[in-house]
Amino acid sequence: MNWKKKFYKENVYDNNNIFAQIINGKIPCKKIYEDKDVLFFEDINPVTKVHVLGIPKAPCINLLEFVSTCDESVVANFFQKIDLVVEKLGIKEDGYRIITNTGINGGQEVPHFHIHILGGEKIGAKIK
Ligand code: AMP
Repeated sequence: MNWKKKFYKENVYDNNNIFAQIINGKIPCKKIYEDKDVLFFEDINPVTKVHVLGIPKAPCINLLEFVSTCDESVVANFFQKIDLVVEKLGIKEDGYRIITNTGINGGQEVPHFHIHILGGEKIGAKIK
């Protein structure tokens, strides 16, 4: 069984996934915003002019795990910080796209819940 099938099937968080290592400082990132519960940073392989990832620091694999296991205040803080981030990135006025890929069919590569914030240009129908 490959690692994706294993993690999604058993729903076990991989403490060594890339984003866990970014959170604990083992792997560097280009930080846009950070507080004690969230981190927003540039995607290493941008698909649009602006491509930022947002992650909670809590060890959750996907959106549903995040919203169902974390404190409401932590969940609210994560989504509320998007406003500050899109303002800082200068994409608030012209618009942007937020995506979260989940599981194998969703194309999720990193098994730590994250949102993609895409903008800086007009985005077509199929991206990420
Ligand atoms: P997903 O396919 O939704 O799991 O997206 C994972 C994203 O993480 C991809 O867009 C990658 O380009 C991005 N990524 C992988 N490693 C890094 C890294 N070290 N720093 C920033 N972004 C990364």
